[in-house]
Amino acid sequence: MAIELATICGSDLHTCLGRRNQSVPAILGHEAVGRVVATGSGRDLEAGARITWSIADSCGTCPACTRDHLPQKCHRLFKYGHADTSDGTGLNGCYASHILLREGTHIVPVPDEIPNEVIAPANCALATMINAVSHLPENCRSVVIQGAGLLGLYGCALLQERGIQTVYCVDVNPARLRRIPEFGGIPINGRDPDYLQTIVTETGHGVDAVVETAGTVEVVPDGFDLLRTGGTYVLVGLVHPRSQLDVTAERIIRQCLTIHGIHNYAPAHLDEAVMFLLRSRGSYPFETLLSEPYPLEKLQEAVAEADTGTWHRVALRP
Ligand SMILES: [Zn+2]
Ligand SMILES: [Zn+2]
Repeated sequence: MAIELATICGSDLHTCLGRRNQSVPAILGHEAVGRVVATGSGRDLEAGARITWSIADSCGTCPACTRDHLPQKCHRLFKYGHADTSDGTGLNGCYASHILLREGTHIVPVPDEIPNEVIAPANCALATMINAVSHLPENCRSVVIQGAGLLGLYGCALLQERGIQTVYCVDVNPARLRRIPEFGGIPINGRDPDYLQTIVTETGHGVDAVVETAGTVEVVPDGFDLLRTGGTYVLVGLVHPRSQLDVTAERIIRQCLTIHGIHNYAPAHLDEAVMFLLRSRGSYPFETLLSEPYPLEKLQEAVAEADTGTWHRVALRP
């Protein structure tokens, strides 16, 4: 597989800045789009086909893959861009000219209508949000998304397409707040001291669901306050150790809440991500969330640019 475009995910940024452990030597990068150079036996793919692929390589036979329907938690799991290359897995990261995809990886051809700038982050952030919103109750009419990063903006667009009337998106960064309406959300400034009361009043008794994508534990008490009795809380972004929650079981019980933790996704979610981008093309300016691509040899500069937070994703081109 020849990489055409890769993007720097938040998890890669954490690794590069020393906030996340990674054994070395490693080739980072898991969000990308590329073209097939050659295939092994058993793959029905033409050389030159443009493809996206699951970040998890799963065995397909263990209890997680079969009984639990959580192939992303396969007992023999391998994840691209997070593995030590000296363990025999070889060319497994996307900040490279080429990557070797494995037998248990779900591969999805990318239709010509979807540009590289739109598809590149789909195999991490978008597919994860497809998984997250699939856990919202069917009769959902109002949702708060916490965080207007890439996950949050995908969430706004997915919920608008689903026909949910009221999708609030809370952030504290003015530049990010300005982008929310372009993706179908209602921007809410989290620094506004009245924002909780405003949402609870507008929705009557609180929202049906809250989706946390912010990755900061400080937003969680607001999430519980925003939920109606019987509401659903979906946690997506807080996938790091500094995520101790201060909530009583009594509150969860008395408020009759459902809580879902979402980590990565299954192959069907990646299929749906590609179909969503095809259906919604022209409706949302996803391509404007990426920087101009940096050449791969300027990876250090690209990581520094990603750390400024100017872009939802900084792009890299081999
Ligand atoms: Zn990622
Ligand atoms: Zn498995």
